[in-house]
Amino acid sequence: MKSIDRSEIVPGSSSTCPECQDSYNIRPLYDDETDVEETNEAMEERFHNMIMEQEVIDEGVFSREPCDLCNSYLGGNRYIAHQLIDNVRYHIEMCVDCLLLIGGMS
Ligand SMILES: [Zn+2]
Ligand SMILES: [Zn+2]
Repeated sequence: MKSIDRSEIVPGSSSTCPECQDSYNIRPLYDDETDVEETNEAMEERFHNMIMEQEVIDEGVFSREPCDLCNSYLGGNRYIAHQLIDNVRYHIEMCVDCLLLIGGMS
């Protein structure tokens, strides 16, 4: 098993991550009057603002799925984070123990 470099892990949701957009139901807005769909950039900025305004709060979700980092099978809250491996970003969900280990809890 590959050891985990914690510096590769960024806790929290991301406006540019398709899976985060999915889980927060972020979709481009469509303007009926002008027939124009919101650009990706505008959508990302809007989502980023939602995170800043704490409209999107990652309080963790109870799950019995294993933690993506330590493979703990203990049921508990899972928190969204992203891991960079070879410049590819992976959407992961980790347990509270891992979150504390990487210092993601303030
Ligand atoms: Zn994500
Ligand atoms: Zn874990």
